[in-house]
Amino acid sequence: MVKEPVRILVVGGGYVGMYTALRLQRKLKPELTRGEAEIVVVTPDPYMTYQPFLPEAAAGSISPRHVVVPLRRVLHRCRIVIGEVVSVDHAKRTASFTTLATEDEGTGAVDITYDEIVMAPGSVARTLPIPGLAEHGIGFKTVEEAIGLRNHVIEQMDIASSTRDPEIRDAALTFVFVGGGYAGVEALGELEDMARYASRYYHNVKAEDMKWILVEATGRILPEVGAEMGKYTVSQLRRRNIDVRLETRLDACEDRVAVLSDGARFPTRTVVWTAGVKPHPVLAATDLPLNERGRLDCTAELTVAGVTHAWGAGDAAAVPDVTAKEPGKECAPNAQHAVRQARTLGDNIAASLREQPLKKYTHKYVGSVASLGLHKGVAHVYGRKLKGYPAWFMHRVYHLSRVPTVNRKSRVLSEWILSGLFKREIVSLGSLEHPRAEFELAAGGRSPKESS
Ligand SMILES: Cc1cc2nc3c(=O)[nH]c(=O)nc-3n(C[C@H](O)[C@H](O)[C@H](O)COP(=O)(O)OP(=O)(O)OC[C@H]3O[C@@H](n4cnc5c(N)ncnc54)[C@H](O)[C@@H]3O)c2cc1C
Repeated sequence: MVKEPVRILVVGGGYVGMYTALRLQRKLKPELTRGEAEIVVVTPDPYMTYQPFLPEAAAGSISPRHVVVPLRRVLHRCRIVIGEVVSVDHAKRTASFTTLATEDEGTGAVDITYDEIVMAPGSVARTLPIPGLAEHGIGFKTVEEAIGLRNHVIEQMDIASSTRDPEIRDAALTFVFVGGGYAGVEALGELEDMARYASRYYHNVKAEDMKWILVEATGRILPEVGAEMGKYTVSQLRRRNIDVRLETRLDACEDRVAVLSDGARFPTRTVVWTAGVKPHPVLAATDLPLNERGRLDCTAELTVAGVTHAWGAGDAAAVPDVTAKEPGKECAPNAQHAVRQARTLGDNIAASLREQPLKKYTHKYVGSVASLGLHKGVAHVYGRKLKGYPAWFMHRVYHLSRVPTVNRKSRVLSEWILSGLFKREIVSLGSLEHPRAEFELAAGGRSPKESS
């Protein structure tokens, strides 16, 4: 009788999903070649997003296609299924997922059985029931959101430039960012820098006309680079006229007015929400154990605690930080851990299939680098603190060394070189979001712009 191959199902094609599958296709090459194992990656998009580059993509320094890695190209020994896992019955070793085709056909979710499962669906924005947030808030986690925000900011400048109504102009030129982690600070830093540059091409919009506001609930920003560098970042942003409000929360953003807990009210058409992440909700649709914050309960070997043949890592997983002084600490949800966990995870799955001992995941956080706009940055890595140009340069060198594939590295590097030689791109291609608008109008229908 022909033996069925061992099927490893990877849920998610982000940092953990892609790097685990990459590691597995190398480690299990003989088994894959002999047909004794197969790797199936189920993920909603055919690409992995290198999220640390999203702020630069929003600023126009890197084009969107170069921020993502095509999974089919790099995972050539894996089966890529573009779909979304909706539930997992681990007791039955079965996952259900939907695809564009199942939606089209109206057949509902389809099942896939597996022998080993890697849960790597990452995280989603942690939102609060703030009036108006669900309707008007803008996220910053995907390449679509980053490019959408770039187009939106330039569009607001165009609105401000063409309106005669001072209230509309004021709201269009006010940009509120909520959350002072690296996503919020880098996105604001890069976009403010881009908008300041773009304003020189407007006859009636000056950099001083714009209001950029950063709202942070705690007393510090950028905890990833330490307290001293966090304070430096606040002072740098304030020197750029950015209104940094610490120990302040967003209370409401209805009717195009952002209301803050310190009583301030800002008419605005832009509220960007980057106030942290929470584990992906699909985890709750599994029979796998979760901790009190909804993260997958994992061991230091990256197995799911208390069950066999299930693995987890990254933002979705509570992995014990064995390097921490206090017991019970979890690894923070960041790329630094995700990439390294994926490596250990791949090795451990291969070891378990070969009945070899598993390794513990151990990595001491080495600090972080953040870009605050062109030639501006802050870094605290391996105990070294850097500011301004050297930090920004280090940010670029670090991420260039980290972005997967030589192909991507070369494309990103050539874009940086070209943007150093020529002027920055300040065009908004917001109309790309409504590609049929022109034709529908010509054909006498209602344009999607009108109907939205
Ligand atoms: C703007 C921004 C900047 C950042 N900068 C840094 C930085 O400078 N340094 C740093 O260390 N970290 C940074 N991070 C954090 C880092 O990107 C994350 O910690 C990392 O991506 C986590 O990896 P992951 O694999 O767990 O999740 P992700 O990379 O988010 O991957 C999750 C994958 O699962 C897929 N998925 C979701 N639901 C399902 C489902 N139901 N079925 C199948 N697939 C699913 C998703 O589409 C995605 O492909 C940044 C994050 C953002 C948003």
